Amino acid sequence: MLCALLFLLLWIAAAWSAEPLYVVTTSTDLRSLVQVVGGERVQVESLAPPLHDPHALEVKTSQLSKIKRASLLVRVGLDHEPWLGRALRTLGDRRFVKDSPNYLDTSKGIQLLQAETPRIKADKGAHVHSFGNTHYWLDPENSKPITAVILEAVARLAPEERRYFEANRKRFLDQLDERLKLWLRAMVRLKGARVVTVHETWPYFAQRFGLVIVGVVEPTPGIPPSPSYLVSIIQQMRASGIRLLIAEPYSNASVVRQIAAQSGATAITLIPSVAGDPAASDYLSLFDLNIKRLSSAAGTAR
Ligand SMILES: [Zn+2]
Repeated sequence: MLCALLFLLLWIAAAWSAEPLYVVTTSTDLRSLVQVVGGERVQVESLAPPLHDPHALEVKTSQLSKIKRASLLVRVGLDHEPWLGRALRTLGDRRFVKDSPNYLDTSKGIQLLQAETPRIKADKGAHVHSFGNTHYWLDPENSKPITAVILEAVARLAPEERRYFEANRKRFLDQLDERLKLWLRAMVRLKGARVVTVHETWPYFAQRFGLVIVGVVEPTPGIPPSPSYLVSIIQQMRASGIRLLIAEPYSNASVVRQIAAQSGATAITLIPSVAGDPAASDYLSLFDLNIKRLSSAAGTAR
């Protein structure tokens, strides 16, 4: 009996003193979701900073060495990270391919929006949503399938920790469900509000919270609008009384100001990724902040 107890204690000590799994993600949102599932058993870093135009990231040598060191690479997938393919080709590391235990594309299991929208094919590595809209983490409900595949991936690499990972995920989902009720309640008065967004970042968020996106400033995601397109979107906004224009922190500020001034809409900056603002330090607080900003903009945009 004593022997069995001693063995159990040694086993627990060995399991907990093991090196944490080193995970790299392509976004801070996935970093946050890997962290909630992996807890102390993972060390996780994002290759991309929170505020960057996904079209325009240049991979540095320091990031290549992080990928090389990683036991698991977690990505948004589709054509969200055109830079990642280049990085993986440079590395020539054969572990990061579909169905490898070291590679996870979290878009599997997601009901994609705009998958049928005809798009030009991604050329020159542009991020143009060719296969559907890639900003799916912005529907909080999608964190359920995302964390489900993360759980399977980390448990495959550290099977002895499966129960720990499962408990972590459950705790997160309980918190998420509680917060979702609050967010939906806060968004009731914006239900059906028609908005224009700069980039097509927000369709998942809009669908969950009842906003109606009637136009986008970038007619093709990631490609700046022509002057004549700008004139037409401003006219459309004036004609249909659009009161809210949703921008990102890296949107072209002068274009946003110009559209707001000429259309009469209130411009609001929402944060598209975790850590894009000090108040959005994790996945749940990202929504807390964006819902708060929308609620106060709704007060002024009447
Ligand atoms: Zn995009």
